[in-house]
Amino acid sequence: MLKLYNTLTRKKEAFKPIRDGYVGLYTCGPTVYDYAHIGNFRAYIASDVLKKYLLYKGLKVKHVMNLTDVDDKTIAKSQKENIPIKQLTDKYIKAFFKDLKALNISEADIFPRATEHIKEMVELVKKLLAINIAYKSEDGIYYDIKKFKGYGKLSHFKIGKLKTGARIRADLYEKHEARDFALWKFWTKEDGNVFWKTEIGKGRPGWHIECSAMSMKYLGEHFDIHTGGTDLIFPHHENEIAQSEVATGKKFVNFWIHNEWLLVEGKKMSKSLGNYYTLRDLLKKRYNARAIRYLLITTHYRQQLNFTFKGLEAAKQAIKRLDEFMLKLQRTKKGENEAKIKKLIERIKEDFEKALDDDLDITKALASLFVFVREINKAMDKNKLSEENARKIHNLMLKFNSVLGLGLDKVQKIRIPEKIKKLMKEREEARKKKNFKKADKIREQIKKEGYIIEDTLDGPQIKEI
Ligand code: AMP
Ligand code: ZN
Repeated sequence: MLKLYNTLTRKKEAFKPIRDGYVGLYTCGPTVYDYAHIGNFRAYIASDVLKKYLLYKGLKVKHVMNLTDVDDKTIAKSQKENIPIKQLTDKYIKAFFKDLKALNISEADIFPRATEHIKEMVELVKKLLAINIAYKSEDGIYYDIKKFKGYGKLSHFKIGKLKTGARIRADLYEKHEARDFALWKFWTKEDGNVFWKTEIGKGRPGWHIECSAMSMKYLGEHFDIHTGGTDLIFPHHENEIAQSEVATGKKFVNFWIHNEWLLVEGKKMSKSLGNYYTLRDLLKKRYNARAIRYLLITTHYRQQLNFTFKGLEAAKQAIKRLDEFMLKLQRTKKGENEAKIKKLIERIKEDFEKALDDDLDITKALASLFVFVREINKAMDKNKLSEENARKIHNLMLKFNSVLGLGLDKVQKIRIPEKIKKLMKEREEARKKKNFKKADKIREQIKKEGYIIEDTLDGPQIKEI
């Protein structure tokens, strides 16, 4: 039984989908005015592991991730670069998708763009106006947080001392500063040519209304899981709840899951502090995307993780160990079926699932996995693993990989061309006849074809140069 820590209740709770076998999952996506940094990707990888584990458990997942393609920062940057806002956001959306792919983050089923859902947002604001929880002011339409008695239930924030009528137009604001927030911002000169003429006025949406409108459009008014980094708990997610629950009269989301920070030298990695790395920065320095993913998943998602190059190097070594294991499994041909191996297989499956069932404890799952790898390696070295068990373990590793996303499915025995195979055979025969001169000559010939022979205890192994 999968248990997940729910920010709403501050408890680990058994996860049960609303509709048997189906999960609705919403992840707050990027604001696409720049490249995402790997701190952002920690958030997307956390929801990716969750999604992959739900799929592993046989559930069907409908995953929605929004793209915020209009806000203060997007407008400011498009003006600075003197290009239309869409040209700017298209560029960074493309880059974002490329990075997702490199990090093996599964694509969401739907990536709705804010600018393509203005109609839905306007409808929602109209509803909130009609029930009198929203009001018009000189610069926009605001949500009156006093009128929603559930306000603060996610962030556990008390609004008792709030000055009535205090309003905030900006989307992001400090904690302990609960204010009425903007649902719709009337056009001002600074917005230039970015506006929509709608029934509720000429202007543009606030950030929070975007996620309420788009999540409910694609996942229904009540859905299973909503994810994001802890900075989104307040005000973004608190405001999403306020908007949605008042508009529908229903509970909005069952599980709120939030990941902790990726830090650099003890400080949150963020654009504003300038202490960030984008994925492309790291790839350019020849760091490997698989190692980056490994580093980002190994620490539990609710714990802070300090980014270091030393950590990245260790991640690379861990991947290498797993790769070598996958290759070795594909080569093993000797060994008898052993009861001990059968037990090890059963146990690792149990341990891996038990760890992930406990609020996705991937640190524990990987620790067990490495113990298992060591045991099986030992068995292989002593020729005590049968081909059949090696195949079983290989398949199991692929199954684990479907959660970890470490690309172990791509680690395959190289396909050796027939010509090389023939040469290898001739070389073996020459060696058997102790004609080492001929054997060496064939080895050189093979080298010219781009392959190298290594003589190991298991016999000659071939590698691409
Ligand atoms: P943003 O584009 O700033 O809205 O952030 C996108 C996602 O990345 C949000 O879920 C943030 O909470 C998350 N995020 C931003 N910085 C970090 C960080 N240093 N570590 C982990 N998650 C982060
Ligand atoms: Zn959101």
